Amino acid sequence: MKDSYDLVIIGGGPAGLTAAIYAGRARMDALLIEMISPGGQMLTTDWIENYPGFPEGISGGELVMKMNEQMERFGVDVESAEVTTVDFSETSHRITLEDRSISCRTMIIATGASPNKLKVPGEDTFYGKGVSTCATCDAAFYRDKVVAAVGGGDTAVQEALFLTKFVEKVYLIHRRDELRATKILQERALANDKIELVWDSVLTEIGGSGMTVEQVTVKNVKTGATRSLAVDGCFVWVGTKPNARFLNNSLKTDDWGFIWTDQHMQTSVPGVYAVGDVRTTPLRQVVTAVGDAAIAVHAAEEYLQSET
Ligand SMILES: Cc1cc2nc3c(=O)[nH]c(=O)nc-3n(C[C@H](O)[C@H](O)[C@H](O)COP(=O)(O)OP(=O)(O)OC[C@H]3O[C@@H](n4cnc5c(N)ncnc54)[C@H](O)[C@@H]3O)c2cc1C
Repeated sequence: MKDSYDLVIIGGGPAGLTAAIYAGRARMDALLIEMISPGGQMLTTDWIENYPGFPEGISGGELVMKMNEQMERFGVDVESAEVTTVDFSETSHRITLEDRSISCRTMIIATGASPNKLKVPGEDTFYGKGVSTCATCDAAFYRDKVVAAVGGGDTAVQEALFLTKFVEKVYLIHRRDELRATKILQERALANDKIELVWDSVLTEIGGSGMTVEQVTVKNVKTGATRSLAVDGCFVWVGTKPNARFLNNSLKTDDWGFIWTDQHMQTSVPGVYAVGDVRTTPLRQVVTAVGDAAIAVHAAEEYLQSET
């Protein structure tokens, strides 16, 4: 195993896989490090219908397989490990894994984001046992049952629609009186008779007995009235937080901890780039993640050339 590379890509979601494809084609001396398995959030996505080239849409799992195959063609080294810390104090950057460290001249951070929690009573108690953030993974457990879902953005509405293939009913709880999701998704949700919108409301508690969710409490933010909904499970889609803890505040970020970059994806440290969901960006999607990655590899190549 080598302990020094020109480029190390951290994270193997769509951004990291694309960076590896571009780096491989450019014959760069590159390594991709992924701590779980390649694919990132696409692995938990049922159906992607806004990624160009697939007119009927494509399952998240299949798109992962295709990107992975494409990456393998170009021969970039891949290592399965978690990056625990990084050190930018020397000209050559240092990356620490559980059992070894690696140095690199340039780095692309593609570690993505993870779902936010609601932070309400019962959420931790029932997490993974009735509370979920992944319909693709868990919808089948709720066949012909009633579930609550929280959120109003693209992911929430898309996932609620997916749930309707299995469940009897979804209460979609949203804090405002209109959804934030794109119009086409809004129209589908409003037309779906398995989805009941619970407008102007927040979920305040998840309750049940033993290992089973039995009800959620919702509060109307306009009237203050609370009510209990009998449900068998609860899905939460209320935004994401960046997977950037291993950076230990060593890069400039926005107020929410997403990494700041310039238009070349360069962070506040020269030769270090951030791409995809982990960076400050107006849109977090597969198509934007892969675009970021192409720009970052191009910038890293230019940086390496300027150094030699
Ligand atoms: C339910 C759901 C549905 C979605 N539907 C769509 C859709 O229809 N269309 C669309 O375009 N987008 C969709 N998205 C959004 C899309 O999946 C993300 O925008 C995209 O995956 C971001 O890619 P990324 O590579 O930046 O990050 P991620 O996909 O989050 O990948 C990051 C990777 O980095 C790895 N990692 C993290 N930390 C470390 C570390 N310290 N060391 C090593 N590896 C690490 C993770 O294991 C992960 O594999 C959806 C997301 C969700 C959750």
